[in-house]
Amino acid sequence: MNLLAIESSCDETSAAVMVNGELRSNIVSTQLIHTQWGGVVPELASRAHQKSIIPVVHEALQKANINKNELNAIAFTRGPGLLGALLIGTSFAKALALSLDIPLIEVNHMEAHVLAHFIEDPKPRFPFLCLTVSGGHTQLVWVKSPLKMEVIGETQDDAVGEAFDKTAKLIGLPYPGGPMIDKLAKEGNPHRFPFPLGEMPGLDFSFSGIKTAILYFLQKEQKNNPQFIEENKADICASVQKTLIDMLLRKVKKAMKEKNCQQIAIAGGVAANSGLRNGIQELGAQQNWEVFIPAFSYCTDNAGMIAMAGHFKAEAGIFCGQDVSPLPRMDMK
Ligand code: ATP
Ligand code: MG
Ligand code: FE
Repeated sequence: MNLLAIESSCDETSAAVMVNGELRSNIVSTQLIHTQWGGVVPELASRAHQKSIIPVVHEALQKANINKNELNAIAFTRGPGLLGALLIGTSFAKALALSLDIPLIEVNHMEAHVLAHFIEDPKPRFPFLCLTVSGGHTQLVWVKSPLKMEVIGETQDDAVGEAFDKTAKLIGLPYPGGPMIDKLAKEGNPHRFPFPLGEMPGLDFSFSGIKTAILYFLQKEQKNNPQFIEENKADICASVQKTLIDMLLRKVKKAMKEKNCQQIAIAGGVAANSGLRNGIQELGAQQNWEVFIPAFSYCTDNAGMIAMAGHFKAEAGIFCGQDVSPLPRMDMK
């Protein structure tokens, strides 16, 4: 089974080739155009996808040493994501599948973030808990099988990735600021500025309160000392990062207990954060859990994870027709 996968939900144009469940190529083109606007501009994202999709797919096929005529199916991200961005990947997948007379597989981007864990060993066994943390989502997912996932907790407002990116913006770092906060935090004191963790009932999250707390704190300190941010950047980053991670880990602990689960996985762009990677390892060692952390390249958006999700669907004989259209707010089944 030679599977081509396409990802275009946000600001990464990506294509991957998977042969019988083994990833042969995973090409990611990150759109740099958004940096100057301090966030993703949907219309610019669509245009950049349109420009990149053919060369990116071409490179993925070439690297996998597969001719397009040898493809057996095409998987693509149907949602969630930006409508215009999703339309490029969906239309391209449909057109290519039609011309090659091969079936299509629609993939939910958030399920794919979770299934990225099955690209490489070690792989978790079902069922397990996955904390999916990205630019648009913060979810605790109870993963029963590759095709059956249940969101048991999620953010009621901002995603944790957004909290990272907005904090970065407040202290003058370019978009996307998450990786920069991570880097600066390594040199800072995480206990210097304590922020409130807030409290949400059950397994849900909220990150809008902390965002406002950070804003007011910085405004107050800057008033007293206009150099405050400049002089304390590393300590601010370390303190904010620690707070966000504590908020995540607190709920992970609660969910693991409720589900009587011994395996925890993290997924999504924020799973690339070194503080979270270390934090979950430490908590896992303390609690006797098996901890699963994907390679960096499978945390942020990539078509490799779409291929993996597509592979599981193909194995189960689940394909879709040419009448499929994108779903910007696609839910998990
Ligand atoms: P979604 O998957 O919810 O649709 P998305 O696809 O835009 O959103 P991803 O590509 O999975 O999100 O993740 C991007 C997010 O990950 C951004 O918010 C970015 O700042 C954050 N991120 C990436 N690396 C790091 C890091 N090292 N530390 C903290 N945040 C990070
Ligand atoms: Mg992105
Ligand atoms: Fe994503």
